[in-house]
Amino acid sequence: MLVLENIPLAPLTTFNIGGPARYFVEAKTVGETQEAVAFACSRNHSLFILGGGSNLLVADTGWPGLVLKIAIQGIEQHPGHDEHGRVLFDVGAGEPWDKFVSRTVTARCAGVECLSGIPGSVGGTPVQNVGAYGQEVSETISSVLVLDLKDNQVRELCPEACEFSYRASVFNTTGRGRFIVLRVTYALTPGGAPRITYADLRRQFEGRETPPNLAETREAVRYIRARKGMLLIPGDPDGQSAGSFFKNPILSAAQHEELKRRAAARGLTLPSYPALESQQKVSAAWLVERSGFAKGFGFGRVGISTKHALALVNRGGATAADVLTLKDQIQHRVEEIWSVHLEPEPVFVGL
Ligand SMILES: Cc1cc2nc3c(=O)[nH]c(=O)nc-3n(C[C@H](O)[C@H](O)[C@H](O)COP(=O)(O)OP(=O)(O)OC[C@H]3O[C@@H](n4cnc5c(N)ncnc54)[C@H](O)[C@@H]3O)c2cc1C
Repeated sequence: MLVLENIPLAPLTTFNIGGPARYFVEAKTVGETQEAVAFACSRNHSLFILGGGSNLLVADTGWPGLVLKIAIQGIEQHPGHDEHGRVLFDVGAGEPWDKFVSRTVTARCAGVECLSGIPGSVGGTPVQNVGAYGQEVSETISSVLVLDLKDNQVRELCPEACEFSYRASVFNTTGRGRFIVLRVTYALTPGGAPRITYADLRRQFEGRETPPNLAETREAVRYIRARKGMLLIPGDPDGQSAGSFFKNPILSAAQHEELKRRAAARGLTLPSYPALESQQKVSAAWLVERSGFAKGFGFGRVGISTKHALALVNRGGATAADVLTLKDQIQHRVEEIWSVHLEPEPVFVGL
């Protein structure tokens, strides 16, 4: 195991922000992961698990302990099918997510095609139950192999044990800091049709006589994402971000009624989508834009993407402090006008 010291974290994140890791290890195997954990424990170093760095805001002072990057590789397709006729794929946590999606589309297996173009690692996907364009990984994860730091055992978690919900799981709620994801097993449908339910995606295929296949759906998703600045393209001035900075708020029926009333008083119609039971999910981007923060808003080094109101962007040389100032300003205004609290989506590291 190679322990590096004072490694800059900014280049390891899509935001390109943050100070150094005091210690840094890249683990390519389960054994190396366990060794790195033992190193951190024996020296009392606080541990942070790094995947692809696409959902992080790292403090300008960096991380005082050990940053452990999980780089376990491998995509293995099981021969045959499971009892539900699905094909299983065991995927190392360090594999790039979009490489895996591309592989499943080529293998004509349906289930993650709408999640094309999302950056980050496979190990990061169960953490916030990654979702987009009508799919969430919780629908196709069959199990997650983890190192449980409570007793240092490697164990397999079934989907129920992962406690998936909107942008949440056991990994970022009740079991936060307890598990290291080593491998994820996905169960996909061979020969399955792509899911074309999301409005943007349906619009993309309007007027077509034949239904789109998985490859066309993947391309359409990537195209829509690129238009919204949600696909990482080298040289894109909106490219340095952590994707959506705020989660879509989930409101009770009473909160939703109040928000609708406030919108109507301004002559606006609130777009919303049914969530669990009596709850409603409302668009955070809509709230941000209607609170005075249009696309392209900003002051110097930090701003809002010119393509999507929900992405805060490092326009060059931004600090974590700059991002937090803009975040506070947006949260404050949205709360003042709409009486809704916006929860940040990225993980704050060392802040
Ligand atoms: C342009 C852009 C578009 C995006 N679009 C979407 C989208 O459509 N939908 C969506 O849901 N997200 C989206 N994201 C957010 C992000 O890509 C996902 O959340 C992604 O899954 C994060 O994975 P990562 O490997 O980069 O994790 P990181 O950013 O490295 O880490 C995120 C969290 O996961 C933990 N973690 C990472 N790997 C492991 C592991 N192996 N074991 C335990 N914990 C781990 C970290 O400790 C941290 O708490 C977008 C981001 C960007 C920059």
